[in-house]
Amino acid sequence: MKQEIRLLQAAASALGFEPGPADGLWGPKTRAGLEALRDAHQGRWGDPVLQIGRALIDLGYLAEGPLSRVWTPELDRALGALIAADGLPRSGAVIEATTQPASPPLRPGHGNRLFQGGAGHLVQLFVIHTTATPGGWGHSRRNAELFAEIRRWHLANGWRDIGYHGVIFPDGEVIEGRPWGEIGAHVIGHNAGSLGYSMVPVRTITRMGAPEDFYTEATLSAIRGVIARACARTPITRIAGHNEFAAKLCPGFVVTPEDWAPAGWA
Ligand SMILES: [Zn+2]
Repeated sequence: MKQEIRLLQAAASALGFEPGPADGLWGPKTRAGLEALRDAHQGRWGDPVLQIGRALIDLGYLAEGPLSRVWTPELDRALGALIAADGLPRSGAVIEATTQPASPPLRPGHGNRLFQGGAGHLVQLFVIHTTATPGGWGHSRRNAELFAEIRRWHLANGWRDIGYHGVIFPDGEVIEGRPWGEIGAHVIGHNAGSLGYSMVPVRTITRMGAPEDFYTEATLSAIRGVIARACARTPITRIAGHNEFAAKLCPGFVVTPEDWAPAGWA
């Protein structure tokens, strides 16, 4: 993700805008610079536009296809969607473990705020889920295919996208679902103002147990990384399991917040 944002920053600078240094970090400056570029794109063309297209494909906002040196309506829409999602990759886009930025340290009392939906619900809750798939599910298939299958199940519910903000696989790969700025569909009554990530178990969950009974170390460490990212982005005040809100086993264990939160969280 970092290198795509860096590419966008460099391209916007080359076109005469000020998205801040090309450091690959999404912040207010990058957002403002890209917004200004989008507002005034007319007549902008050339290799930087090509680079912007490349980055938007990699972030999942633009379909793979021939790239243009002129500003197209598709590019315009894709950049608008990225800005609306606050620089996060789109549903289905894969954050490569190697390019994922290290979890930023939690700064207690930081002023970052993440809001969801048109009504602007402040995000303060993180909910841990299981995909409730049987052990060995999708054993020989790629994570992206499994993600697509989960998404199809959710679309079959009549939802407009996968309900989760992301899914975490046994090898530790995180595939992002709904953008963080969108209200998910994962915990009835608490969707507005929460983030929900789901972990794929390696053993069928038929009873409550310990996290290690059902999930790999890679999965558990990846979700800690996601939670740390969330805590740095918005004041998360509660980390919970789905079973705290519904009569379900999900995620198969009792979530003790201190075990999942980054250091310094309270
Ligand atoms: Zn759940």
